[in-house]
Amino acid sequence: DAKGSPRGGCRIYDDVLSGKQTREGVIRVELGNALADGAFELHYQPVIDARTGRVSSAEALLRPNFAALGDTTTQSLIAIAEASGQIMPLTEWTLDTALRATRELDGMPVAVNISPVYFRHPDFVHRIFDKLLAARVRPELLTVEVTEGVLIADIASARHSISRLREIGVRVFLDDFGTGYSSLSYLQHFDLDGLKLDKSFLKDVGDRRKATQIIRSIIDFGHSLDMRVVVEGVESDWQARLLQLLGCDLLQGYELGVPMPLKDFVAFTERVNAQAALAEAAAVHVG
Ligand code: C2E
Ligand code: MG
Ligand code: MG
Ligand code: MG
Repeated sequence: DAKGSPRGGCRIYDDVLSGKQTREGVIRVELGNALADGAFELHYQPVIDARTGRVSSAEALLRPNFAALGDTTTQSLIAIAEASGQIMPLTEWTLDTALRATRELDGMPVAVNISPVYFRHPDFVHRIFDKLLAARVRPELLTVEVTEGVLIADIASARHSISRLREIGVRVFLDDFGTGYSSLSYLQHFDLDGLKLDKSFLKDVGDRRKATQIIRSIIDFGHSLDMRVVVEGVESDWQARLLQLLGCDLLQGYELGVPMPLKDFVAFTERVNAQAALAEAAAVHVG
């Protein structure tokens, strides 16, 4: 029994290197300590207005700071936190941190990904309201990103939560659209501000006529339901231009800006918006 043996620490360490389950156990322990120790940070990825080229909002993305688990993806961290119940305090921390960040963002909205576990908590909407009040942040500055599974699991209650958020001005976007559920009929039950088209749709765009037509159709579909459409995973200038032509509202991807610490995001935004202003002035001059 490793616990009782004086070399227990080594045993655990060896297991971490070899076993997936133990590795998850370590992540769980780290998660427990982490929130107090500042072992997480948020990075902010710019979302670009396709029409003006300006930075329109920021998506907050969780990043682990602990070196020992440096290669753990955010997605697997979230999955472990969901399974262990730690997603509740982790999401609280994320919301608090992102709302605090709006003070440096000069009126720019910030988007936070909300786990289904947190969304389904009976207190979910209250918690959001409380946090906005405590941080003295206008509701319009918060966007909540949810995935299809959240909406489908319990349509009536999801619909209720989403309307209450939107009543006070919080925006709600459907994330990873097109990856999960094959039916679109569930969308009739929800008033959403926008769709984020999953990055997998971009893989063949431009090379294949059908891939391009599918994106075009989804953009039109979103607009017909009064939603704004974001395309994620823009990795080339060419894709960005094409999406602009297809009528996409907002663009997000490594080509336009990677997720970065808040300080860098603020500098990035100033630079990009100044360039956009120059380009606009030049266009007016020519026209
Ligand atoms: P997501 O919400 O769809 O976020 C977009 C993901 O795509 C991010 O991965 C981002 O870094 C990545 N990405 C952005 N541009 C590009 C690009 O041009 N190409 C490619 N290949 N990828 C791009 P990340 O940060 O690893 O997050 C993965 C997922 O983990 C997120 O997907 C979201 O579902 C979840 N997640 C991240 N942060 C949080 C959080 O604070 N709470 C919760 N519940 N989930 C989070
Ligand atoms: Mg997201
Ligand atoms: Mg997504
Ligand atoms: Mg995702």
